[in-house]
Amino acid sequence: MNFQLSEEQKMLVDLANRLGRDEFASKAARWDREHEYPHENVEVLRRAGLLGMTIPKKFGGTERPLIDAVLAIEQIGKYCGVTARIVVETNMGALGSIMAYGTEAQQIEVARRILEDGDKPAIGMTEPDAGTDLTSLKTTAVEHDGCYVVNGTKHWITGGGISRTNLIYTRIIDREGNDQGIGGILVDKGTRGFSVGRVEDAMGLRGIPEAELIFENCEVPAANLVVRDPKDGFKKLMNGYNAQRIGASAVALGIAQGAHDLAIEFMGQRETFGRKLKEFQGLQWMMADSEMKLEAARLLIYQAACNARKLANNVMLPEMREASIAKAFTAHESFHVVSEALQMFGASGYSRDLPLERMLRDVRMFQIGGGTSQAQMNMIARSMFAEH
Ligand SMILES: Cc1cc2nc3c(=O)[nH]c(=O)nc-3n(C[C@H](O)[C@H](O)[C@H](O)COP(=O)(O)OP(=O)(O)OC[C@H]3O[C@@H](n4cnc5c(N)ncnc54)[C@H](O)[C@@H]3O)c2cc1C
Repeated sequence: MNFQLSEEQKMLVDLANRLGRDEFASKAARWDREHEYPHENVEVLRRAGLLGMTIPKKFGGTERPLIDAVLAIEQIGKYCGVTARIVVETNMGALGSIMAYGTEAQQIEVARRILEDGDKPAIGMTEPDAGTDLTSLKTTAVEHDGCYVVNGTKHWITGGGISRTNLIYTRIIDREGNDQGIGGILVDKGTRGFSVGRVEDAMGLRGIPEAELIFENCEVPAANLVVRDPKDGFKKLMNGYNAQRIGASAVALGIAQGAHDLAIEFMGQRETFGRKLKEFQGLQWMMADSEMKLEAARLLIYQAACNARKLANNVMLPEMREASIAKAFTAHESFHVVSEALQMFGASGYSRDLPLERMLRDVRMFQIGGGTSQAQMNMIARSMFAEH
């Protein structure tokens, strides 16, 4: 086992850190305040080769391992959580499922959209009555003369309305009317019968819309079906999602590390009672506790990424148990790390003049989105008790 980064990985970390610090940090407040998608950052990321870096070489990507994407996401997350999430969704997310289980035509097209157009694929799982209990989803795709007719409503879909590629989880109904279980189908933005409804007024990460997707007799070519497997379709889709969990964990870790770094710097400047904050042992211990949490989260995320299994096209998907442990732990601890960092600033930490309050709102998301912490713990418990 070795935790040393290669020279190439050090260069990647340095590049991502530089972009975060020099290009993304100064505008992070604007995306939050204006509810604006950072198109200009997408172009910077694309030119720097950070979009689609896990895409196989045969589809034009650099086929970097999952851990490399994690390293870049963590660095960018220190400065702008929204931009880091875009790196997640162009390297993991729907991409992982499409690369592992889709058709070659789908793989070529999705890779092209990411690498050339900066498209950020969206994943549409959640419905008003199917969140944690995803198997109760009601959206249907009914087979009909060379196409599928999709009906249903998704909500809280990250990038809804922005993303051209949308991987929709749906019940597949064959032409005889039999339910074939849950599968995935690609629906392009602009397809007739597909519209975007309410956009949520979210607490944090406000630079990417969280939107409702509405499908009304939406006809999608049969060739857009990604997963249709009555026995294992749902399992495959959830498997594909494990990479996304690792990416989300890396964003949370990055945000927490960024807040922690700001607090350390501030504690070397601010004086009370004739002493620098960094000299008070009570505060040192709070920060040491955060340091331990960050390090533990980092190891869990790196472990899950490095142990990821290679599937078709060398796509790397982490194991469910490791991904769930990394996500539940990081989401919980990162929130506390940011909260402690904010505390070091006193009243100024509570002001919108500084990024701490935004970071706290942003990092809170990771205990909910991508499967709640309770859902992760259910999966961990299932793996523990499966054979007993
Ligand atoms: C910012 C953000 C972005 C999101 N992006 C996407 C996206 O891109 N695509 C997408 O499909 N979805 C997305 N979601 C939706 C997200 O995945 C769901 O919100 C999440 O799965 C929880 O579902 P729910 O909100 O319906 O809560 P519910 O499932 O109703 O759960 C409510 C509460 O009960 C708990 N709970 C429920 N069942 C159990 C149980 N069996 N045991 C213990 N506790 C339980 C939950 O943990 C939660 O605390 C996003 C959400 C947010 C906030």
